[in-house]
Parts: sequence; C-alpha cells; structure tokens
Amino acid sequence: MRVLFATIGATMLCAGAAQAQDGATTPGGKEALTLLVDGVKFQTVAGNGQVPAYAAYLKAKLLSAGFAPAEVQFVALGETGYLTARTPGRDRKAKPVVVLAHMDVVAADPKDWTRDPFTPVVENGYVFGRGSLDNKAGLSMAVATLMQLRRAKWVPQRDVVLVLTGDEETTMQTTKAAAAAFKDAALVLNADAGGGQLGDDGKPVVYALQAAEKVYGDWHLSVTDPGGHSSRPGPDNAIVHLATAVTRIAAYRFPPQQNEITKASLAGTATMTPGPLGAAMRAFSANPADTAAADILSADKRYIGQVRTTCVPTMFNGGHAPNALPQRAVANINCRIFPGTPRAAVEAKLVALAADPKVTVRFNDNGTIEAGASPLDPKVLGAVKAAVAKRAPGLLVVPAQEAGATDSMHFRAYGIPSFGVGGVFMKPSDSFAHGLNERVPVATFDPGVAWWESLLRTLG
Ligand SMILES: [Zn+2]
Repeated sequence: MRVLFATIGATMLCAGAAQAQDGATTPGGKEALTLLVDGVKFQTVAGNGQVPAYAAYLKAKLLSAGFAPAEVQFVALGETGYLTARTPGRDRKAKPVVVLAHMDVVAADPKDWTRDPFTPVVENGYVFGRGSLDNKAGLSMAVATLMQLRRAKWVPQRDVVLVLTGDEETTMQTTKAAAAAFKDAALVLNADAGGGQLGDDGKPVVYALQAAEKVYGDWHLSVTDPGGHSSRPGPDNAIVHLATAVTRIAAYRFPPQQNEITKASLAGTATMTPGPLGAAMRAFSANPADTAAADILSADKRYIGQVRTTCVPTMFNGGHAPNALPQRAVANINCRIFPGTPRAAVEAKLVALAADPKVTVRFNDNGTIEAGASPLDPKVLGAVKAAVAKRAPGLLVVPAQEAGATDSMHFRAYGIPSFGVGGVFMKPSDSFAHGLNERVPVATFDPGVAWWESLLRTLG
C-alpha cells in the first residue's frame, strides 16, 4: 500500500514539465531498472501462484552477485511465500537490520488498462505496469543496492537481512511469519512507504519518513426482528433501529489526538502550507488541546486522518421484501484508529453510541493487528537526512503517519522500530498505486540506488 502523498499536502503547484528519461546510467540504477522490468512480468496477484517464480528469479540474481546459497532462503506458505537474503555483519550477535519490501501486487484487469498491466513498457520517462510503483520499484532498488554492495564486498556492522513478503496486499500471512522469524530485529527499513514528493516542475518538495500507521478495524452492526406485514407496523423496525445507531456513530467525533510523529508532520507540513490551514497545523502541533485548530484540519480530507480516530459507515443492508417489515438490517462501520488507542476502547464507544440493546456490535477480524507508532529514532532520522542531503540538499524531511497499512505493522507489533524510507521521488499526480496505468519515473532509479546505499552504509 502506498498512499502517503495524500497526507503530505499537495499544495505545491508549479509550471513546467520534468524531463523524460528512458534509461538509467549508473550500474546500480541500470540493475534496478532491469529487475523492475523483468519483475513486472511476474503476475504476482493473490491466487496466481507466481510469487515463488518471482522469488526464484530474484534469488538467482542475488546468487549471481555473490550471495551464498545458504544466505538466500525462500519460505513457502501456500501458493505464496517470503524470500530472505542475509548480508552477514562483523558482529554476528548484534540484532539485524531488516530491509523490507513486498513481491505481490494488487489485481489488474487488462481490459481497463491502456497497456497490458503485466507487459512492462518504458516510455516517456516512465515504467508502466502493475506493481511498477507498489512495490516492485522499491523492491528492485533495494535488491540492486544489496547486489552492488555484495560485489563491493561490503561487510556491515550488523547483519542486514532483506525480507520480501508475498501477500502484503491481501492477508499478510507471509508478513506475519516473517515478522515472527525476525522478531529480534533491531530495526526495519521498509521500501513500501515513505518517499520524496516532487513538484510539477520536477523539483523535490519534501521527503516523508513513514513512522506510524493508523490501525484498521471493521465492526458489523446488526439488528434482527420477527418482522411481519408492512401494513401492520409496530414500534420496532430493524432498519430504523440500525439507521438511528449508525447516524449517531457517524455524527460522533473522536477526540483529537497527537503523537510525536503527527506533531512533527503537521509542524513540517505547515511550513509549506499557506493560509488558515497552515495556521491550524502550526496551532494544533503546538497545542494538542486546540480543538478549534483540530476542527479546521478535520474539515480537510487530507488531514482528518492525522488528527483523530475516524469511524464511518461503509455498508448498509436491510429488509427482504418491499411489503414486509425488515427481519434483519446490517451495517459495516470502518474505523481508522489512532495508533496507541486500543481497539477495545473504540468498540466500547461504538456500543455506547449505538445506545440500543437491539443493535449487536461485533468486531470483524480480518487479520490486521494493533501496532503503535515507532518512536522517532534519531539515528534513522539522521541517516535519512544524510541521504536526502546527497539527493536534494536542503530538502525538508517530515515524519509521517500513514492512513493506510503496510507490512511494517506486523513488525511494529513486536516493538521493532519500523520506518518507511522508500527511495522513490515522484509527483503526487504520477501516483497510480493500486489504480489504472500504474507507473514509476525512470529518473528515480539512479538516485534511488544511491539512496539505499547511503541508508544501508549508515544504518547497517
Ligand atoms: Zn505496497
């Protein structure tokens, strides 16, 4: 998943067009581009059984760069699995650093695409194809960097383990297994989140360092009733009971919240945001009790997720015949919970808001888990700032709390500090992750490999 730019204010609009670049020039950039173009051809959509083939391709590449067979492992899980590749460090007892990315992609219907989603096309400065951005670009840059470093006989201070999961977009069972296998890791660097934002003139505007994610939760609300003939209505109606409860929930505003990530994120974004919105960011980041500022931010779709837990009805179904009193009504309430807030507390609030014993509130477990924010590690922040300084001197680095979820949550749930530090720099208008005609700029590959090399040399 990759939705960061939605939260880092698209306030920068400049004229002009970026130069088209159809090839990489550095050895690492070329290698990453080749890995991506080859990688898009593997249709690693859930259920296709193509992840093992893609992993075998990547394993062969890693071995060709000098990784020993024992250092590269594929762990099969059903039709998918996860791949690991270890770069041994000087201190073999030190906790490893995990470099994380995912091999699977969201489904794509060729009928809807201008180009076939699984036939990579390099054109007008972009690589087109499903997964070209999410997450095969980040994966290819990380893998190419580790290959380059292996050829250079790099020995990090501690082990650096590449972990490529195989079902991030669906059930995250491979992520769960990989997180359990590496629950002793010191740090996770995730290529599937974080990244640089470019203005429409192609110049970098900000770098977002992802350090937290909202926690996902669905609740099913239901009302059952004996029903009857609609010509003889009584005081109880399942649809009315449920609609009333849902309306109360929808009208409720969870209290504003803040953590060090959102505080820093809003303070940083404020410097690029003019007008009352920027002022509200400054005010709320300075004072979490400023509910007026929180309300201004909550009125903007880009920022409401940064300020509080949100719960909204997303599905509603009731009744069985036009002339019958409904015997059943069901609704789905989808919540995006501020990290650190227990799900149980949200559920208790939903029950209290429903305020109706006829309404049953049941948590729908879809496998997502509760994970807090990662404390902002100064070493990681420093390494990211150093990498940014090489790529775009003076560029602002803003910590970010993502509205969506990534593999990182399974590692955060073990208390492992996990950061989205992707090396892709692009315009928000170019981001079609999960959507049609997904693409990634070719120009991001040369600096993207240099980016990962800088991060790994500092943090490994
Ligand atoms: Zn992703």
